[in-house]
Amino acid sequence: MPATRPVFVITGPSGAGKGTLIKGLLEHVPGLEVAVSATTRPRRRGEVDGREYWFLTDGEFTRKVDEGAFLEWVPYVSGRRYGTLRSEIERIADDDRTCVLELELDGALRVQDEVPGSVTIFIAADVPELERRLRDRATESTGEIGERIELARTQLEQAHRFRYVVRNDDVERAAAGVAALVECELALSLKPAQRSRSGRL
Ligand code: 5GP
Repeated sequence: MPATRPVFVITGPSGAGKGTLIKGLLEHVPGLEVAVSATTRPRRRGEVDGREYWFLTDGEFTRKVDEGAFLEWVPYVSGRRYGTLRSEIERIADDDRTCVLELELDGALRVQDEVPGSVTIFIAADVPELERRLRDRATESTGEIGERIELARTQLEQAHRFRYVVRNDDVERAAAGVAALVECELALSLKPAQRSRSGRL
């Protein structure tokens, strides 16, 4: 991974609004692309294989683990597994674009430790607000929402381990904050020669 190109990792508890903020980020900052993760969780209504996720069977996921295809992978609630495919990150870099990862906390910490140039942004929200969003979203069973909320309580205590923390109690303000951080990190990551050529810094 070239040292001049950051990898942005958006993390935080389920229901924090990571997906919405990433959507806004892509509209606001050019040249970014989200790496499509692999998962064994069932597809939700409206999700498309290869767009939201690569939806794999348990056997297919295990085969990819054995092949070393994942930069990181985790077991998540209800025994579902999620993983970042090395091939996605390489494809995005080959296209000369900047990679954005949306990961739960353990995966985000692993990428932060192992990928030079990674920039982690933790999206925080209060537990009652998380619960309200998960119930409104209604994509999980009541039992799984409970599991996700329990996990969220412990995850919120880990926020300080990441480079940046953005509170998402006002989505427009949070989106502006995330975009500003990304633009700032991108500007700082340019080589001195590129900086003077761009004339913007
Ligand atoms: P969901 O089932 O709501 O799509 O995702 C559940 C959680 O898994 C979210 O917090 C999401 O950010 C995380 N996640 C998605 N893909 C990956 C991945 O490749 N690796 C890790 N560690 N977490 C992921």
